[in-house]
Amino acid sequence: MPLDYRAAVLHAPRTPLAVERVVAGELPRDGVLVRIKAAGLCHTDLEVIEGGLRYPMPIVLGHEAAGIVEAAGAEARGVAVGDHVILSWNPHCGHCFYCDRDLPILCETYLAHGPKALAFDGGTRVRRADGGGLGQLMFLGAFAEYALVAAEQAIPVPKEMPFDRASLIGCGVMTGVGAALNVAAIGYGDTVMVIGCGAVGLSAVQGARLAGAGEIIAVDLDPAKLDLAGRVGATMGLDARRDDVVAAARRAGGGRGADVVIEAAGSPASFRLSVEAVRPGGEVIWLGKTDVDSEVPFRWGALMAEKRIRRSSYGGARPARDFPMLARAYLDGRLKLDELITRRIGLDEINDGFAALKAGAAVRSVIVF
Ligand SMILES: [Zn+2]
Ligand SMILES: [Zn+2]
Repeated sequence: MPLDYRAAVLHAPRTPLAVERVVAGELPRDGVLVRIKAAGLCHTDLEVIEGGLRYPMPIVLGHEAAGIVEAAGAEARGVAVGDHVILSWNPHCGHCFYCDRDLPILCETYLAHGPKALAFDGGTRVRRADGGGLGQLMFLGAFAEYALVAAEQAIPVPKEMPFDRASLIGCGVMTGVGAALNVAAIGYGDTVMVIGCGAVGLSAVQGARLAGAGEIIAVDLDPAKLDLAGRVGATMGLDARRDDVVAAARRAGGGRGADVVIEAAGSPASFRLSVEAVRPGGEVIWLGKTDVDSEVPFRWGALMAEKRIRRSSYGGARPARDFPMLARAYLDGRLKLDELITRRIGLDEINDGFAALKAGAAVRSVIVF
């Protein structure tokens, strides 16, 4: 008897998600069945809903989740039934051009099958109750009671880690903390600016603190988010509408600008601001995204002085190494995650949750099962 369960399905861009019963496929020999316990509403899901990121429909969204392994295939390695796991959306083959160059985020199998909403092996793991096809976002489809994923996507973490906070590590926290710890070269005492204080930006603030930054300047348009940034480690908060952000970066950075700027707002204005605020020779990390077809203008003079600009998708994630480390940092009190959860909701409230995210009224809404 195939397993059927409830999932939030997007049938077309700019329409509400429909919570409906779907049917699981076969458990692959190298796969695991995960009972989802918590799933965060990330901005990337919203971009798919809004049509800024194009995927085949219908599709089960959700890619930031934690749960319990309920079944494991005979060849599933590194994870066992009963394990509490955080899910990774970046499986990689380990032997392609990019995997050989230590860039799993560009793995050719990952990039070939991800945009088609397929499983990592090119198959499908879920279908509609009437037998129709159904994709899963980013090899997960985690706005659902269950997900069938590759074993390497399910990373065991300590059982005392609460699921709602664990789920955030799977995308937003990994992306933000990882940008500071894995991607940027933050030196002890450096001046770091973080533009945008959603879940990713608040995590980047914490990554900068863990990396030993001196001044950590948070920039946002919302005083409540700047207040949160202060609670997780920012030493200064700037309102991008009211304050002269570039002048403040120069002052804090010895007249030159910030050593590192991490952009986590995802607007043309914030991309432009990031290269103005960094010092000559400094480093800009872009985490935010805007519509894939939009143009982003820059002032050429701001780019002249040997600045390094990197776009990063997942904070240089090595999930098997980083997820347990981040969970341990939370349990030891060094990583603050309670502050990132604005509210906990049921699966049926998912459309309200995305409305709040779009309105900027929530850092993270987390679906709890
Ligand atoms: Zn995400
Ligand atoms: Zn590969």
